[in-house]
Amino acid sequence: MSLYDTLRDYWGYSSFLPQQTEAISAIYLKQDVLLLKATGGGKSLCYQILPVHEKKLGIVVSPLISLMKDQVDDLCQKGIRAVTLNSDSTPDEKRRTETAIREGKIHLLYVSPERFVSERFVRLLKNIPLSLIAIDEAHCISRWGHDFRPDYRKLRMIKKTWPDVPVIAVTATATREVKDDIVRQLNLKDPCVLIGSFNRTNLNYEIRESGNAKGEIIAFLNNHRDESGIIYCFSRKSTEELSQCLRENGISSLPYHAGLKDNVRRKNQESFVRDKTQIICATVAFGMGINKPDIRFVIHYELPKDIESYYQETGRAGRDGLHSECILFYNRGDSAKQIWLIDKGDSDKDYKEVQKKKLFSLTRFCESPVCRRHALLTYFGEEYEQKNCEMCDNCRKENPRVDAKEYAWKVLACVSELNGQLGRGKIVQILSGSSAKEMESLRFRKLKSFGTVVEISEKQLEQWVDELVFQGYLTRSGRRYPVVSLSKEGKTYLNGQTGAPIFLSKPKKTGGKSHG
Ligand code: ADP
Repeated sequence: MSLYDTLRDYWGYSSFLPQQTEAISAIYLKQDVLLLKATGGGKSLCYQILPVHEKKLGIVVSPLISLMKDQVDDLCQKGIRAVTLNSDSTPDEKRRTETAIREGKIHLLYVSPERFVSERFVRLLKNIPLSLIAIDEAHCISRWGHDFRPDYRKLRMIKKTWPDVPVIAVTATATREVKDDIVRQLNLKDPCVLIGSFNRTNLNYEIRESGNAKGEIIAFLNNHRDESGIIYCFSRKSTEELSQCLRENGISSLPYHAGLKDNVRRKNQESFVRDKTQIICATVAFGMGINKPDIRFVIHYELPKDIESYYQETGRAGRDGLHSECILFYNRGDSAKQIWLIDKGDSDKDYKEVQKKKLFSLTRFCESPVCRRHALLTYFGEEYEQKNCEMCDNCRKENPRVDAKEYAWKVLACVSELNGQLGRGKIVQILSGSSAKEMESLRFRKLKSFGTVVEISEKQLEQWVDELVFQGYLTRSGRRYPVVSLSKEGKTYLNGQTGAPIFLSKPKKTGGKSHG
């Protein structure tokens, strides 16, 4: 029987999706795998099929009981021998499951990380051949991720305890830090790293000023009467207030946050998942493990924590592949509030810096006139060739950008001349030939780039530097303060003769020098 027979007989599919063949082949050859792919990309099959095909136990570590139950129910319906061992299992159930495992009757076993590392469990698995160990939602192991779970750190023992069993870690998170952290923390040996596309083509992205967020939300909901949606709020209090306000406006809505009693929280979630309630106003506590494919919109009433969170949270919309809306209400005050909260928090200094850096990436994303999809995918290191996605506010606006390649070239030339040693503010001052005191030094005045872009306002130039960072021509990094340097693409552009267009936001006012 071939793997294709197994795919057809149990799953009813006739072919594999991108990355599935590579992932499955690597595990088959006993290589560790790291698979990064958007929600709905078909990650589960990658670790489910081999244990079923080889009739050899595969272990799946998963962070939430609800996630495990959903997957196990789904597998059982397909006639696959899958079980879960978790804190909800009764002693009797546990005993029966353990016996079935020993007798080789189980092919997929879902466990929580704490159970997996327990002595009893390790003993149970001692002499049982394993086909693989899968770590679902693997970003939970990383502090740099958006959903760090300390219990996941204990999974470091896996490769020590089962050095010969291939491990596959999967996640829909894509930043390089998290990716590297997963490999390091899990001690994966020369893993086969597979990165799928993170483009969610059915999601429309839109960012609005939050001046009249409540009114706009009510108007939006009145036009989307029978559709389910999540509204993410920053605080517990605002989930309750907004939900109350929606109800007063005749919209069916419930709050969800970690401060609610367990039974209330469960009831509200159930009511939303079963379409008895249209809207759930929630904190970030809501989401992972919610199996509802027809969420038609995700609204951020307040600013999320960072781009990863924004991507994850909006990613809960449209898992059925149908058109869905993502609207974020943005206000600079929200960002100031979050910086204050980060500073006040008790994380260590380095971590605070990381949090702030991520927050700034998000605010720049909000303020950018560049295609949202382009910005999101670039953030996750994915190339996106298309110039206009037609599914975001910036691409739908009339002529939001112009080909400003001559200016872009001058900015890149300036950064190159400075050898990536200065930050955005100085670059802008140099280009506009600023008369500011710190520019008086000969070191600046001697530069070829000094005063080459006097006709553009400094504010506009700052914006353009950001856009060039967004578009991948420049990079911004640095531990103490961010310096701007040329990326590989920027260097290629500067040295090349192509003169390809570079789209930047249209300057508001040209022809006048301003140091605003
Ligand atoms: P993820 O875990 O990456 O979010 P899932 O594993 O839930 O994605 O899969 C998303 C959808 O794609 C599911 O409906 C699943 O049945 C479907 N799917 C997975 N593999 C295939 C395949 N080879 N052919 C067709 N559909 C598939």
